[in-house]
Amino acid sequence: MTTHGYGHVFAKNPLNRGEKERRDQSAINSMMTDPQSRFLPLRELNLLVNTGMESNLFWLSRVQLDEFACKSEPIFLGILDDIYHFAIEVSTDLFSDAVIRSLNPSLRFVDVRSCGEFLDPEEAGIAAQARIQVYWHQRYKFCSACGSKTQMQRAGQVRNCTGCGTDHFPRTDPVIIVVVHDGDKCLLGQSRGRLQRTNTYSALAGFVDQGESIEEAVAREVMEEAGIEVKNVKYHSSQPWPLPYSLMIGCHAEAVTTNINMDEDEMTDVKWFDRKDVISALENNSEVLKVPMKIAIAHHLVKSWALNEI
Ligand SMILES: [Zn+2]
Repeated sequence: MTTHGYGHVFAKNPLNRGEKERRDQSAINSMMTDPQSRFLPLRELNLLVNTGMESNLFWLSRVQLDEFACKSEPIFLGILDDIYHFAIEVSTDLFSDAVIRSLNPSLRFVDVRSCGEFLDPEEAGIAAQARIQVYWHQRYKFCSACGSKTQMQRAGQVRNCTGCGTDHFPRTDPVIIVVVHDGDKCLLGQSRGRLQRTNTYSALAGFVDQGESIEEAVAREVMEEAGIEVKNVKYHSSQPWPLPYSLMIGCHAEAVTTNINMDEDEMTDVKWFDRKDVISALENNSEVLKVPMKIAIAHHLVKSWALNEI
């Protein structure tokens, strides 16, 4: 295990988020005008990527940004190798496909999930952070307490209400995701609205409710979705999931009961699978079961159970 934990996609962001610098407006101003600073454009929440031989995020310099006359306020992401990194929302008018290809023919705006599939893990982590932050600022332009406009402060770490002064902090939604097991069987399901046309089954998942622990959320979600009672909830690892701003909290739990009583509003199917079928599925070698791809924490929760690594 590394300092970044299990090493899931989106979970290896190398930036120092600059807590000290964020609180100093004069430092922020000089970081934004520093000729070494780098700006990552996001257009309709898609990230600018060089899709050439080696795919990587494409950063603009301060000079390039000024040439585009981009009016949006940069959002500070963090510091790497003494260079300040920002995300910036850009418009289709200024950054049309033709314009970006005139900079470099391999440039494309790419959605964050695809970034997770083909960028290296460090860059995928930065892409996730940028997408989450830009989306949050788009969605929280008004105060939920009084309805007045909010304005960005600390280079994006907070939005402050211009009416009542309330500070609004960036949002992260905790989601538990759990592989329940009973000896050589594990419980997997298909959520309504996705996956049901395939043999793909995944770990059960759901948002943590207010005033609820991770263990309570696991027990409640498994009971709601499958009618199964669990014990010995064990934390495994976590993964930021940038659609739109979830934190997936991966767990395993032991079944106390085994009779499935599925919630048909939420699930199209919930089943027990034998370890040997799960292992075949992990090797892409099963007729009866497909499991989620490696980009998803569910894959790793299933795998660590199947290989007795929990
Ligand atoms: Zn307010």
